[in-house]
Amino acid sequence: MDWREKAACKDYYEQLKKKDIFFPPPGKPGSQTDAAVLVCSSCPVREECLEYALDKKELTDGIFGGKTPAERKWLHKRRQAAAGIKPKTRRKRKKT
Ligand code: SF4
Repeated sequence: MDWREKAACKDYYEQLKKKDIFFPPPGKPGSQTDAAVLVCSSCPVREECLEYALDKKELTDGIFGGKTPAERKWLHKRRQAAAGIKPKTRRKRKKT
C-alpha cells in the first residue's frame, strides 16, 4: 500500500471538500498554514510525507509533513551540511 493511502489530508480533501489549505499563497503564512499543520500533526504518515518532500526537493510550496517551505529548506540545508555537501552559491555575473 502506498503511504499516501493513509494520509490524513486525503480524507480532508475527499470528505470535507475544503479549499486547499495545504498550499497557502506564497509569503502569506497564517490561519491556512496553521490549519494544515494541525491536520498533519495527527497524520500517521507524516515522516514519509516529509521524506518525500525532501527527496523531491519540494522546498518552495505547500505544507508537507507538517513543515512549511522555510522549515523544509532549513532541514534540507542541515542534512546537506551533515553530509558534508557545501551549499550552492550563486555565480557572479561577468561584467561586459
Ligand atoms: S503529513 Fe500532512 S501533507 Fe503529509 S500526508 Fe499527512 S496530512 Fe497530508
